[in-house]
Amino acid sequence: MKEISTRLLVIGGGPGGYVAAIRAAQLGVPTVLAEGARAGGTCLNIGCIPSKALIHAAQAFETARLQAAGTSPLGIRVQQPALDLGQTVRWKDGIVQRLTSGVGALLRKAGVQVLAGWATIEDGKTAVVQVGGEALRVRCEHLLLATGSEPVALPSMPFGGAIWSSTDALSPAGLPRRLVVVGAGYIGLELSFAYRKLGSEVTVVEAAQHVLPRYDEALTRPVLDALKKSGVVLHLGCSVQGWDERHGVHVRNANADEFALPADKVLVAVGRRPRTAGFGLEGLQLTMQGRAVAVDARCATSMRGVWAIGDLTGEPMLAHRAMAQGECVAEQVAGRPRRFEPMAIPAVCFTDPEIVLSGMTPDEARAAGVETVQASFPLAANGRALTLGAEGGFVRVLARKGDHVILGWHAVGHGVAELAAAFGQSIEMGARLEDVAGTIHAHPTLGEAVQEAALRALGQALHV
Ligand code: FAD
Ligand code: NAD
Repeated sequence: MKEISTRLLVIGGGPGGYVAAIRAAQLGVPTVLAEGARAGGTCLNIGCIPSKALIHAAQAFETARLQAAGTSPLGIRVQQPALDLGQTVRWKDGIVQRLTSGVGALLRKAGVQVLAGWATIEDGKTAVVQVGGEALRVRCEHLLLATGSEPVALPSMPFGGAIWSSTDALSPAGLPRRLVVVGAGYIGLELSFAYRKLGSEVTVVEAAQHVLPRYDEALTRPVLDALKKSGVVLHLGCSVQGWDERHGVHVRNANADEFALPADKVLVAVGRRPRTAGFGLEGLQLTMQGRAVAVDARCATSMRGVWAIGDLTGEPMLAHRAMAQGECVAEQVAGRPRRFEPMAIPAVCFTDPEIVLSGMTPDEARAAGVETVQASFPLAANGRALTLGAEGGFVRVLARKGDHVILGWHAVGHGVAELAAAFGQSIEMGARLEDVAGTIHAHPTLGEAVQEAALRALGQALHV
């Protein structure tokens, strides 16, 4: 078998792995990256990017439908719009193609040796990669595991045929007339909105009594209201028993009553689990935390010279966390002292309205015994929100009572995802309410709601 040696071997070319490889190579570390499927991983190929493209297309189609129905408050009227779903999927695929080939170019530019093949771990310093039918043994000083995650299937409804994973839902051959979505988490809610707007009848079944458990009721209420208004039917506190083509999805509610939900397709979105099996990881006998590989504050595993990042290390399973961890490991391999201890990993749910959470929640502050002040500013009092025709929602700030240091930001509303940058920066820089309140924010922008929330927490609100 042919052999090569390198300083760093990265297994997995998703946001965690490809960022780690680029950064390490930039710092002069000889780096090999093995990717069995496509560069960009879940996020670029079957996750973040294609889902946001589909959500955008669905919104554009719904806007056109409202205009055709004569209900556009803006006074825009169009003739009957039609959806060419094949073209929508091709447009989405084009974006994915541009971004993944961009990642390939960035890896090449940085000098990373990319092996297009599946890696099997032999020990903490060796893996065998199958490249085009040939096996190549790679020896390394540092092994970085970035193998990501995979969707959880329900035993009574394995993926295939009418039972969709998120990957299937992002490349539909046709629009299901009746879609049942199991799980009202990120994927379930984002895609429920999208499919409803594209024209499907959508029913959601969720085991818990709440949707999006990390978000408090004030944040999720506008999303639930919008779901109901759009005609999505929600069954909370219900468990799914199975599926058959004739009756659809068999559901049991909290009173143990059973009923069936007719469905042409069923999207199962009940979470993702770290990808730990099938490539020799077990042989390393790493310390695990549940199903995830346990890591310390340096992203080091329990074996010296073996690192792990991204979804493989568990929640929160977010692309920007994986990227930041990847950079952190690359710098350490290059000899720089680094730790992964962020103050805030923003979470954005791309529902309609969007939800953003950055830093501590009020519940987390309470549990930590921190005395806080908090204030909300309604988007109904923000000029830009009104000109966008989207006045629901608010921006909320949470700060320490004693010194006004900002601990968290939370927002719900149209377009608030873009406020995540301002939220994260103020928290990481240790800003106080006075810093944000005293910063001139451009008018008219949604950002003014950020400043106004800080002003309000200081008892100095101007526009409410
Ligand atoms: P992955 O992206 O999963 O990449 C792992 C890579 O490793 C894969 O390409 C895989 O082929 C490769 N691999 C695995 N085993 C081997 C092996 N043995 N040999 C070689 N290669 C291997 N996150 C957000 O932050 N924002 C969003 O809006 C968002 N939307 C999402 C929407 C959907 C529908 C889904 C499914 C996920 C979404 N996520 C989102 C989550 C995000 O995609 C993940 O958190 C992110 O991709 C994790 O990156 P990663 O590098 O850890 O793993
Ligand atoms: P999730 O954990 O967000 O939601 C899963 C939901 O399914 C939960 O509400 C859970 O109570 C419910 N559930 C579990 N078992 C069930 C059952 N048997 N019947 C009915 N309901 C059940 O998981 P997801 O939506 O599959 O997303 C997976 C991961 O992908 C997320 O953790 C997130 O990190 C990532 N993601 C992020 C974004 C984003 O950042 N915008 C978007 C999509 C996905």
